[in-house]
Amino acid sequence: MAFFAHIGTGFALKPAAPKAPVILLITAAMSADLVCFLLMALGVAGESILAWTHGLFISGVWALVFGFTSGVILKNARAGVFTGIAVFGHWLIDFITHPMYGGDMKPDIPLFLEGSPKVGLGLYGNLAAAIIIDLAVLAAGIALYVHYRLSQAKPPATSPGE
Ligand SMILES: [Zn+2]
Repeated sequence: MAFFAHIGTGFALKPAAPKAPVILLITAAMSADLVCFLLMALGVAGESILAWTHGLFISGVWALVFGFTSGVILKNARAGVFTGIAVFGHWLIDFITHPMYGGDMKPDIPLFLEGSPKVGLGLYGNLAAAIIIDLAVLAAGIALYVHYRLSQAKPPATSPGE
């Protein structure tokens, strides 16, 4: 979860990877949740969803696969690396925010697969703070992105006397 913060990381990474489309970076940053929702829609239940979408191990694997594939398709190593970082950034944000709000508030992010130790710093324990930080990360990401786009759009500076 932490939906807006994930979108924010996608925007924020664009200046670092000019060749990666911003929609790809946002999708990468949200991919763990997108797969999670897909599995839920398919009726996969319980702990295994988080193990297979949000575990530290699986996030590392997914970041490598997603990043490598993007780099190959875009023919740009830097774009691939930052797409991978966008994927793994999801884990870092969820590590800070989880356990998900509304449950028993026990750490719910597995380090490995099902049955492995779970972590989560529990920012959702303070829902107001979590929402504010969530939106702040989105705002910061968009600000970085807009600043980048504006700097790209600027015509080259003319020297005096021209
Ligand atoms: Zn998530």
